[in-house]
Formats: sequence, structure tokens, C-alpha cells
Amino acid sequence: MASKLRVLSVASEMYPFVKTGGLADVVGALPAALRAQGVAVTTIIPGYGLDSKASGDLVTLADEDSASGLVLGANIPDAFAREGGPYMDAQGTDWPDNLARFSAFARRAAEVAIGLYKDLPRFDVVHAHDWQAAAVVGHLDHLLKGKHLPTVLTIHNLAFQGRFGGECFQDVGLPAAYFDRAWFEFYGDVSLLKAAVLRASRVTTVSETYAAEICGPEQGFGLNELLQGRGADLIGIVNGLDTDVWNPATDAALPLTYGPETFAAGKAAAKKQVQAAFGLEAAPSKPMFGLVSRLSDQKGIDLVIEQIDGLVFRGAQVVMLGSGDAGLSAALAAKQAQHPTQVAFVDGYDEALAHQIHGASDFLLVPSRFEPCGLTQLSAQRYGSLPIVSPVGGLVDTVVDCNTAAMQAGVGSGIVLRSVSGTGLGQGLNRALALYAQPEAMAEAVRNAMVAQVGWSSSAASYAAVYRDLVSAENDEV
Ligand code: ADP
Repeated sequence: MASKLRVLSVASEMYPFVKTGGLADVVGALPAALRAQGVAVTTIIPGYGLDSKASGDLVTLADEDSASGLVLGANIPDAFAREGGPYMDAQGTDWPDNLARFSAFARRAAEVAIGLYKDLPRFDVVHAHDWQAAAVVGHLDHLLKGKHLPTVLTIHNLAFQGRFGGECFQDVGLPAAYFDRAWFEFYGDVSLLKAAVLRASRVTTVSETYAAEICGPEQGFGLNELLQGRGADLIGIVNGLDTDVWNPATDAALPLTYGPETFAAGKAAAKKQVQAAFGLEAAPSKPMFGLVSRLSDQKGIDLVIEQIDGLVFRGAQVVMLGSGDAGLSAALAAKQAQHPTQVAFVDGYDEALAHQIHGASDFLLVPSRFEPCGLTQLSAQRYGSLPIVSPVGGLVDTVVDCNTAAMQAGVGSGIVLRSVSGTGLGQGLNRALALYAQPEAMAEAVRNAMVAQVGWSSSAASYAAVYRDLVSAENDEV
């Protein structure tokens, strides 16, 4: 057995402490998944006033022997102890000092990594997630003065890069020499992500298909050439699902728990409950389409809106939960008002309801325009709600289309659209309705989905391999 590796995971959110999206789920699940691989993960997130009585630089949010492993909050009250979200105020406007906030966080993480806090372990690798943590690579370089500590940057969504006006560089808290093309300077601006894309020892992203997509101009958001330049150091590792949090056999949010052999009763009970909760027609045999999503252009919500009338016309119900873009939210609310007994929409963020919609729905809609990995299609499969997904990113890597060959092989677990368009989604919905009309085939697909491997084990092994590779390369150099 190889010796235990110590990794400092640096991120702006972590389930169950603070979550706005899939990043939190991944950061929250990694410590337990990696423990099984002989890797001890300590996570540092901004304190966000999570412990209002905190004093000192670091707050312990979870102990080493907890499920989350050791979790530290960087106690920087000026930057993080405020009302509102992690990145935006209550009105949805980015905090104007985000560059300074997340640079201060990265600096604190770098200080932890190099052993400035004596009672903490020494770390072998620092793993930064997304732009909010990316500046740790620069701060480490500065603090280590020529020495080296291996770093991994994981890109969860390249659309967000932490780009700010060049005149703000001093907010990064590094000497002016770092405002250079070899580091943070990007077309005259400061780009936190770009510096780490260039300088981290390895760059990973959350699916193999997305790793290929971001090397091209369409999905590369201006960083495609730099990413392509990383060659074999750019690695795709698909996300897993926390199968304890998402487990229909034990889920307290469901009226009746169920497994792959008992889903008919469990899903019928969940459907009945959701129909009653939202005043929908109590129709056990109607197909139900679910949506649990951030409301943004990325997620293809506009495509769903276009299809709702047709779905209702063909005897389906639609249950949607989401928050974000106000225009999309208003359009979804209008659809509910138009079809009050067949369509429900809840504007908000609600974990328990998300689980109930997974249990109740027969299909879950994920028509994203781009999707680095996506978690909803994984949780949907686990709950036997067949995901209807766009042919992009991690969605194609994790859903097996229910075509004839896949059904014969017993692996079809969802519907992969031919294109991200109204026509593509329309055709996919036709296929879904046709499948639903064949109860035996539908049940087979539901069973396939529920037993699909959506957990962390193989991906955790891939991360552990990346870490070990870096540490052994480091040792070879000494
Ligand atoms: P992204 O991180 O781009 O939003 P992912 O599919 O990777 O998308 O992860 C989204 C996660 O957030 C999933 O766990 C999903 O169930 C959850 N989620 C999204 N919107 C809501 C909501 N309104 N209420 C509850 N959970 C939500």
C-alpha cells in the first residue's frame, strides 16, 4: 500500500457548508472518496461568517475524522462576513471587491499549504477549484521563493474566469512582476484562472468530452490555445455523485423509499405527493417531466419553455424548480399560470423538493448548451428519472442513449438529443413519450439507470493517480 498523501483542497464552496451549484457537491464528496484511495484531504473554504464567534485566521468547520475530513474556514471578515451570496449581493450583482476577496482567500490557503500554521499537517499537493481558488498557484509561487509544491487546477466551468480590469492588479496582493503574460496578465486584464491554467502542475476538468471541447474556439472562452498548449497535462476526470446524499433507498425527503426492484411503488408515491403539493391533476399514469436547475442561458431553459405547451397537449405534466435569471423565471411562472393543473414551477433553491422531483418524475430535462460535467443527469439516473440530455460535455460521457443496441445490451439509461435546439429537444421528447408508452421498455430503462455507476470510485482513483504522479515526479527531481 502506497503511503498516505496529504492534499489541501481549496474552493469557494463545499457541501454541506455553502453551495450554489455542482462545485460544492464535488468539493464536498472528494474527501471521503479520496480517503478510500489512501489520500487525506483537508479542505479550505472562505469563512463566510459560518462561525460568527470566530477569532484567529482559521475556523475549524469539521474535524479530521468527520465525513468531510478536516474543513477549515479562512476567517477574513472584511471580505466574507456579509449578507448575500458567496459571489453576489442579494440583488444578484457581483460583489465589487471579488478580486480582492478571493485573492485574500487564496493567500490564506497558500499560507496553510506551506505550513505557516504549525498544528496543521504538511501537504504534498494543493488542489485549487475554479477561478475563486486559482490565485493560490501564484501566491504559492511567491511564498515558496523558488521551492516547489505541486498544484492541480480543476476547471468546473470555463465560462467563469475571474477576469478584472488590469488597473486592479494590486488587489491580487502580489508584486507587480506577476502582472505579466507568464502569469496573471490577459489582454491587459487580470485573469485569475488564466494564471493557473498556465502555471498549475496539472489542469483537470470534469469530463473527457469537456476537456476536448475547451481546446476549441467555440467552448474555449479565449483560453483554448493555452489549454491546448498544456497537452497531456490537461486531463478530463468525470465527476461522481455523492451516493449517500442521493440515495432513493434511504432518502427522508421521499414519501416511500425505493430501490431498483421497488421503484414502481416508490415513484408512484412520490408522483402522487408532488401532484398533491402543487395542485396538479392527480393522474398516476401521466408522464411527468422534471427540471431542477439554475435558470441561465447555459441550461437551455428557453428551449424547455418552448416545449411546455406541446407536452401538456400530449398529456404530460411538467414540474420545475429553479432560481436565477428573472426573465426565465417569469416565463416559467407564466407557463404554470397557463396550465395550473399540469405544470408547476417553484422559483427558489430547495434541496428536499429537488429530491422529491427526482423521485416523482419519469424524465428529467437537462438540455444544456454546454455542460462541463453536470450532476443532475447523475442524480436523475440514481432516482430512476431518465435524463434527457444535450449531446455536449459530461452529459454524453455519463448518459447512455436508450437506442435499440443499448437497450439490447441492458445499458440504455436516458435520452441523448441529436442537437441543442428546439428541434433536437422536440425529437427527444417524442422519443421519451414513445418510450413511456411501452411500460416494459420504460421499466427496463429505469432499472438500467438506477444501477448505472454514477458514484465516485473510479474518478477518485483517477485524481489519486494524478496526485501520486506529481509527488513521484517531485521526488525524482530531488
Ligand atoms: P451547475 O453546477 O452548473 O449549476 P450541476 O448539474 O453540475 O450544475 O449541479 C447542480 C446541482 O445543484 C445539482 O445537485 C442540482 O440538483 C442542484 N440544484 C440546482 N438548482 C437547484 C434548486 N433550485 N434547488 C435545489 N437544488 C438545485
